[in-house]
Amino acid sequence: MKIVFATNNKNKIKEIQSMLPQSIEIISLESIGCNEDIPETAATIEGNAVLKADYVTQKYGYDCFADDTGLEVDALNGEPGVFSARYAGEQKSAADNMDKLLLNLDNKTNRDAQFKTVIALNIKGEQHLFTGIARGTITLEKYGDQGFGYDPIFKPEGFQETFAQLSLETKNAISHRGKAVKELIAFLNQDSINNF
Ligand code: IMP
Repeated sequence: MKIVFATNNKNKIKEIQSMLPQSIEIISLESIGCNEDIPETAATIEGNAVLKADYVTQKYGYDCFADDTGLEVDALNGEPGVFSARYAGEQKSAADNMDKLLLNLDNKTNRDAQFKTVIALNIKGEQHLFTGIARGTITLEKYGDQGFGYDPIFKPEGFQETFAQLSLETKNAISHRGKAVKELIAFLNQDSINNF
């Protein structure tokens, strides 16, 4: 069975492929000839994951999964959420996004936040959603240089370090994306999905 992962990130594809039986082949957008930008215009993280997966299934006819992630800050009513990548503008700069968030939290005592990843999977005519959440707090300054995005200002619950100070292995074990991927893998490893 071939399933498209609606991403151009070869590392993500390799990582997920390594956790699945050989009967399931994960293929990239490039390999199905999908080179256009898939619209991400929904108002929610779930909506964007569904939009991307549906785009591929409807236009190219493949079973497909797509992921979307956002950082939701409690004191900012869930912002930046679906706008996480372009919070400070279309240049999509991680440094600018973090500066803007730190400024917006300047006078706030509640710095609780969560990362949320949603994976939408279209398979055999059905749609399934898998969600992973990592709760934590936004630090006062940036710490660490690993990872990407908001990692230097996000301290996961139970840790004294930010995501940017943790090894990739540790981050993957506790992260929003790691948890959502685990759910997806468990689903795809079920005999009922594999044996058809
Ligand atoms: P995407 O849906 O995976 O492209 O994520 C959207 C945006 O959320 C990214 O551009 C980052 O700004 C932020 N983001 C997603 N995942 C992470 C993470 O693991 N650490 C820090 N920032 C993240």
